Amino acid sequence: MTKKIFIVFSATILLLINTNAQNRKHYYCKYCGYKASSVATLTSSSCSRHPQGAYKGKHVLYEGEEQSHYYCVYCGKKASSISSLTSSSCSRHPDGNYQGRHEPYQGSQKSKYTCKYCGTQASSISSLTSSSCSKHPQGAYKGRHAPAQ
Ligand SMILES: [Zn+2]
Ligand SMILES: [Zn+2]
Ligand SMILES: [Zn+2]
Repeated sequence: MTKKIFIVFSATILLLINTNAQNRKHYYCKYCGYKASSVATLTSSSCSRHPQGAYKGKHVLYEGEEQSHYYCVYCGKKASSISSLTSSSCSRHPDGNYQGRHEPYQGSQKSKYTCKYCGTQASSISSLTSSSCSKHPQGAYKGRHAPAQ
């Protein structure tokens, strides 16, 4: 009898933990910071900051963790939310200076960032992306270093 009560009690606790975890999880669009409770909801509506033009494509999932601060993967600019980060143009955008918006880095914060093409290391995304990469996929020095996740 006592054992049965314990099992029911444990199951209830587990259920509560699971429910809480699901409630806390949010999904964000990496282009505009739009927040949704599921990936399906997120990717079913059009994005006002889509790189191909406003509402020319759907929201795209930001695959990193929820952070207290977000850094642009192209220039290292810091912002407190994805929506404020992506509200302005990026001086180091791969399509050309200010030709696109900042995009959040999807890896975790590190003491050293490594270029995923050549292995160059730097203490911040902004210093890593300040110089051109000798092994850039578009050709030697045709683009900047890019931080690995
Ligand atoms: Zn969006
Ligand atoms: Zn940027
Ligand atoms: Zn590099």
